[in-house]
Amino acid sequence: MLTAESIKTRARELGFDLCGVASADDHPRLPFFRDWVERGYAGEMGYLARTAERRADVRAVMPSARSVVMLGTLYNTDRPYSTEVADPGEALISRYAWGDDYHDVLGARTEALSEWMVRAHGTPLETRAYVDTGPVQEKLYAEQAGLGWVGKNTCLISPELGSWLFLSEILCSVGLAPDEPGLDQCGTCTLCLDACPTGAFPEPGVLDATRCLSYLTIEMKGDIAGSDRAELGNHIYGCDICQDVCPYNHGAAVSTDPAWQPREALDRPRLAELWTRSDADLRDAIRHGAMMRVRVKRLRRNVAVALGNSGTDEAESALGPTAADRVGAESLDEPLVAEHVAWARARLASR
Ligand code: SF4
Ligand code: SF4
Repeated sequence: MLTAESIKTRARELGFDLCGVASADDHPRLPFFRDWVERGYAGEMGYLARTAERRADVRAVMPSARSVVMLGTLYNTDRPYSTEVADPGEALISRYAWGDDYHDVLGARTEALSEWMVRAHGTPLETRAYVDTGPVQEKLYAEQAGLGWVGKNTCLISPELGSWLFLSEILCSVGLAPDEPGLDQCGTCTLCLDACPTGAFPEPGVLDATRCLSYLTIEMKGDIAGSDRAELGNHIYGCDICQDVCPYNHGAAVSTDPAWQPREALDRPRLAELWTRSDADLRDAIRHGAMMRVRVKRLRRNVAVALGNSGTDEAESALGPTAADRVGAESLDEPLVAEHVAWARARLASR
């Protein structure tokens, strides 16, 4: 017979670090998402606005849903936090993007659990599994399922494991015993709000995504506004600062799962070294990883800006005036890349 406990046991066997159950009822904070979109904080992420209604209730996604099985997977590794990297010539990449694409890895594991649930239930059971891709407010359901709480930095924080967690979930049509919701343990701390380099939190627990470096480096398809470029520093894909400073991530557990270990090319690379790679090499480095989302052209845009910000001689020679003639780096001719390179050269020249 399918029970919350049997699902948690199977989830552990499949490699999940956390598993909890939330009911598919109304939860008081779910409607806030619509307000957030209406305040313009989603920027160019039109898919969020388009799905805002459905995100207000999982039963709009699967009308038969009665429970949401929430799963957490630790992806932390033993490399230093970005706030511990003092060298402006080192490329900063969000921790979650160092290994394999979590959509693929966790998609397979979450689907395996979902299929096991259907078999274990015996009688007809409807399920739907998602990894970050469904119109589901995962963090709020994870909080309801007792995995932790949504902190002032808007991340789901487990009191035991911290916030380096991938979330995935299974909607299911059977009523399972729900867990107690996680309790907010931020208290009077404001470290994440104070550390954000772009002031992206208009209030605690509310992120203006259009100000966030993750949005600027990943979601923005066109030019990065000139006024925002200096704020990128040496970030080339995402930003972890508001998680790095969180006390719940100090001494956080690390995963030994090979899927999340940094690929060689993304293991603390230097900006100049990335820049001088061919397009084919860059494509290989990010293949089957989360960074495929930006592809080579936008990656070069971001690296160019970071080189300009780094203010190093190494950056100047990597970006030198003859660099555009390089063989195997056709993306340098893209107007988007060329414009950001020109900005970076001018910034380096004005040192
Ligand atoms: S990820 Fe970085 S830029 Fe975005 S809110 Fe956190 S600290 Fe600010
Ligand atoms: S840094 Fe402090 S306020 Fe921010 S999420 Fe962590 S505990 Fe909460």
